[in-house]
Amino acid sequence: MAKCEQCGNEYSHAFTVTMDGTEHTYDSFECAITALAPQCACCSCRIIGHGVTHAENIFCCDHCARSSHQAAGS
Ligand SMILES: [Zn+2]
Ligand SMILES: [Zn+2]
Repeated sequence: MAKCEQCGNEYSHAFTVTMDGTEHTYDSFECAITALAPQCACCSCRIIGHGVTHAENIFCCDHCARSSHQAAGS
């Protein structure tokens, strides 16, 4: 049995994710996403795909990258 780092659930089908050389254990993808996925700098949703990187920020989509760029540039 392994214990989920995010919610503390002990689950026999837990899995590990290695990020930046550190191993993390989760019971579900939902917990892994909550703990590890970056957040969109514009709308704060979790970025599960590749996302869009603009300057130092990461966004969920082109629309968010553009709206944030417009807000900052005005
Ligand atoms: Zn969990
Ligand atoms: Zn967004």
